[in-house]
Amino acid sequence: MSRGVALLEDNAHGLGAMSDGRPLGTFGMLATQSFHETKNVQCGEGGCLVVNSPDLLERAEILREKGTDRSRFFRGQVDKYTWVDEGSSWLLAEPLAALLKIQLEMLDHIQDDRSRTWTTYMEGLGMWAGEQQVELMHIPDNCSQPSHMFYIVMPTLESRSAYINHMKSFGIQPAFHYQPLHSSVAGRKFGRTVGALSVTDRVADCLVRLPLWAGMSESQVERVLSATQEFTT
Ligand SMILES: *Cc1c(COP(=O)(O)O)cnc(C)c1O
Repeated sequence: MSRGVALLEDNAHGLGAMSDGRPLGTFGMLATQSFHETKNVQCGEGGCLVVNSPDLLERAEILREKGTDRSRFFRGQVDKYTWVDEGSSWLLAEPLAALLKIQLEMLDHIQDDRSRTWTTYMEGLGMWAGEQQVELMHIPDNCSQPSHMFYIVMPTLESRSAYINHMKSFGIQPAFHYQPLHSSVAGRKFGRTVGALSVTDRVADCLVRLPLWAGMSESQVERVLSATQEFTT
């Protein structure tokens, strides 16, 4: 907490990344981590709460345990457990935790593998992107990125749609992202926006993600690269 404002990090994309040498997920008093099937480390559905403020730890345990102090009971700090606060059943099932544990132990290997694909894309697309007025990702010098995604920003919505169709004709399915929150149905209902968010709108229209997963073979990466290089905007 600084300046009286609590910082909560949504670190769903950030596991393994750093800013000024400090891991993402350690800046906020709380950070959330997603283990959804689309993330670098995953167990289908699930996630965790990173508690960086020790004084919030006990409450977090209680909320997770259906509003009971069962964790205190397991540690022998109380002789029986009972309902003490609001809460729900936010525990991860043991079989899912087992899947997750192995991947967390292999995190460096997973990140290295993804990073190889990411770097191959970056190096392979530099010249094409320059010629086609396509923007590549820019990583500031003081940051490292977690190879969660490799995206490109096409010059227009039309060229993005044409690129996606072009890739589909090669049996490759790039994903476009993300629908801006401020213009979404719920965002208009619950949110507040001051002025136009033209950069957000443009990126939402023009961004497209290339396939990237741990274990992607060199020939699969090569197929994506050569199909992309054949596309003109
Ligand atoms: C995936 C994702 C989420 C949602 O994660 P869940 O595990 O499905 O709750 C939230 N924020 C960002 C930025 C994400 O990428």
